[in-house]
Amino acid sequence: MAEEKKIQRKMIKATGEMNRIMADYFYELNEAAKTGEKKIAWCTSVGPAELLRAMGFLVYFPENHGAMLGATRMSTDFIPEANAIGYSPDICSYLTSDVGAYIKGITPLSKAYKGIESVPKPDVLVFNTNQCRDVQDWFAWYANEFRVPLLGIHTHRGVGDVGESHVQSIAKQMQAMVPSLEEISGNKFDLDELKRVVKLSRQCSDLWKEVLDTAANVPAPLTFYDGTIHMGPAVVLRGTQQAVDYYKLLLAEMQERIANNDAAVEGERFRIYWEGMPVWGRLSTHSKMFAALKTNVLASTYCNSWIFTDFDPEDPFTSMAKAYTELFIVRSDKAKEKYIKDMLAFFKVDGIIYHDAKTCPNNSNCRYGMPQRLEKETGVPSLIINGDLNDLRLLSDEQTKTNVEAFIEQLEER
Ligand code: SF4
Repeated sequence: MAEEKKIQRKMIKATGEMNRIMADYFYELNEAAKTGEKKIAWCTSVGPAELLRAMGFLVYFPENHGAMLGATRMSTDFIPEANAIGYSPDICSYLTSDVGAYIKGITPLSKAYKGIESVPKPDVLVFNTNQCRDVQDWFAWYANEFRVPLLGIHTHRGVGDVGESHVQSIAKQMQAMVPSLEEISGNKFDLDELKRVVKLSRQCSDLWKEVLDTAANVPAPLTFYDGTIHMGPAVVLRGTQQAVDYYKLLLAEMQERIANNDAAVEGERFRIYWEGMPVWGRLSTHSKMFAALKTNVLASTYCNSWIFTDFDPEDPFTSMAKAYTELFIVRSDKAKEKYIKDMLAFFKVDGIIYHDAKTCPNNSNCRYGMPQRLEKETGVPSLIINGDLNDLRLLSDEQTKTNVEAFIEQLEER
């Protein structure tokens, strides 16, 4: 694509600061794993990270590692290792690439951070099935491997309106973990500390939402591809002051772009909503492909998944239970459709792209008629692209490019 070279994609100045705090985060985990001075909890990406931090754990997120394996295009080498021990090629390719990499003794952390040789060994693993069952199996494998306790929250799925009974059952499961976490960490539970952490997490969430919402501006100051990179602190550092400070910096940069009428994609003509997982190994390719078409993929369900507006420091357990159950991925199709409709209007979207990720049915919302129903209701056209989050054998770059170009042509004709 010769034209791609001419299109400017604006780089974010705050990236250097984000890289610095992410490096600090991984080095602190690495140090703790070596010295044993601080206990380490592994947590699912929308698991009860606030509770773990408040109990004094450093928190590591295997899904973040899975995304790194995808983005560095290492996954495809490791997935067969997990397949060989019985984990199907059809299940979550985060799971299979992460377990496969562990079996091979390789991690992208070593390349990114000098001196880090492996992922940090856990003292406990804590999952929440709010996103899928795969996380439970994934963590169970490591619990067995490291001979450490496995704790979990079992969340209702396909929830329409989140009611009191849903919230109370999740809040109780979180509270029931406290005695085990006290025993493993050696720290007594302190409600005031939990309130402090939840307050920081809420601030982080609010700022992250403000950053993402700046994309409602025409032209949008950021892209979905920027979001997938800059969501790192919202995932792994929520509940810390570093994440809050970082998003203040990023928000100021986005507001400055708006004031200067700076577009993330030069000459923005079309505005697209991305529904589903990113294709981690193709972030740059996709970003360039859309920029060449003067199209900004500017908003997504995925990046919005780390917005937890229900967090209330005065009522931490109930509000965490509510926030982690109100999530898009937990909800019924009806609730999801209402959410997407609101997003389309708010971000002034011209079209939706659904990523049908082969190994993640949980984040692929195009298999039961949703695109057709939404298109009928809103008039916003959609395209489905087949692919995967990490397993690059499951996508065709040529097919994706052809389909995207045809879709943009269709938007032009409208
Ligand atoms: S939601 Fe999808 S990508 Fe995430 S852990 Fe579950 S199966 Fe894997």
